[in-house]
Amino acid sequence: MNDKDIMDIENRFMANVFSKKPVVLTRGKGALVWDINGKEYVDCTSSYGVALLGHCHPKVVKAVCAQAEQLISCHSGFYNDKRAEFIQKLVQITPKGLDKAFLSNSGAESVECAIKLARKFKGKPEIIALMGAFHGKTMGALSATWDKKYREPFMPLVPEFKHVAPDNADKIREAITEKTAAVLMEPIRGEGGVRVPPDGYLQAVREICDEKNVLLIFDEVQTSFGRTGKLFGCQNWGVTPDVMCLAKPFAGGLPIGITVAKENIMSAFKVGEHSTTFSGSPLVCAAGCAALDALVEEKLVERAAEMGKYFKVQLEALQAKHKIVKEVRGLGLMLGVELRYDVLNVILKAVQRGVLVLDAGRTVVRFLPPLVIEKEQINRAVAVLDEVLGEEENERASSSTVPN
Ligand SMILES: *Cc1c(COP(=O)(O)O)cnc(C)c1O
Repeated sequence: MNDKDIMDIENRFMANVFSKKPVVLTRGKGALVWDINGKEYVDCTSSYGVALLGHCHPKVVKAVCAQAEQLISCHSGFYNDKRAEFIQKLVQITPKGLDKAFLSNSGAESVECAIKLARKFKGKPEIIALMGAFHGKTMGALSATWDKKYREPFMPLVPEFKHVAPDNADKIREAITEKTAAVLMEPIRGEGGVRVPPDGYLQAVREICDEKNVLLIFDEVQTSFGRTGKLFGCQNWGVTPDVMCLAKPFAGGLPIGITVAKENIMSAFKVGEHSTTFSGSPLVCAAGCAALDALVEEKLVERAAEMGKYFKVQLEALQAKHKIVKEVRGLGLMLGVELRYDVLNVILKAVQRGVLVLDAGRTVVRFLPPLVIEKEQINRAVAVLDEVLGEEENERASSSTVPN
């Protein structure tokens, strides 16, 4: 099959819910991927924040192959050696006190668990989320997600969710009522445009939640695993939540969701009140063990901080050069370039020239590269963006001088 055949089949037989780029990817190594014709791309998406160790990390590959020959599936109704090993490694690195985990298969599921847990533990229904938030697209998680285009077609959603303006702790204080079980937020809003909160905000929210006796849930699906230069995004501000949602990179590329909570909170769930068939499968847990080992051994958290600074300086240089760039934001290797116009064209052109990037809303180009990305690869990505931004500017300048 050539690339055209492959695209035709996917387009014909798959639900048309993804905004697709016309590229067929078949191979990856580190921060590079190749298409079916052998063309090379610098991957600044990590498959949407999944491949933080780089594609096909040798440790993960080896662990998956070895485990596949031992035992692939094992329901959590039985014990398993790899699951125990993974959980032990995990709770050794989670913030202090967050040492009881529920394993699932995706980010949305990790949020669903947190929502159910908050309601059960508090015996109250209301969840406060932020305007601009993204927490996933299953009905519960979707109720906490902000963007109307995701929510409106599926109304009515789960009741008792409300959204308040971000970056202002007073808004949260005002929104909390007798019915409030939890405040749910991303430490840095990813889909919402790579929005880093002002210093003091997360601390203030933590204090309000303590004072009002409400749970604080951090959705760290995108901001954890070293992405922001700390193991968990919240550690940039020294704030620990009561419940934390994890997913994307934690199993080296295999599907996983993790909800971690303080022991007394997780104990609110009684046997049978929450579960999922694939929870903690040996194959995924073996990959997870290898992923956590690689993260620590290769000092990738520190690397993300260092490479993130390097990358951000390069992007800021583009801001100085191109009027079309409004702002450069981000922390570690979670970076966004806000343009004055729609970014879709820029993204498609970058892909054509061998650099994969994401959007984050209509006007932000988002960079979520693997933490193993090299300086030379960052330089390549920035050079392509420089070129594309220059062309966009020229096109806009010439079209605006055409008399109508
Ligand atoms: C991606 C993401 C989710 C949803 O994860 P899925 O695995 O796509 O369900 C939830 N929260 C945040 C912050 C995310 O970035």
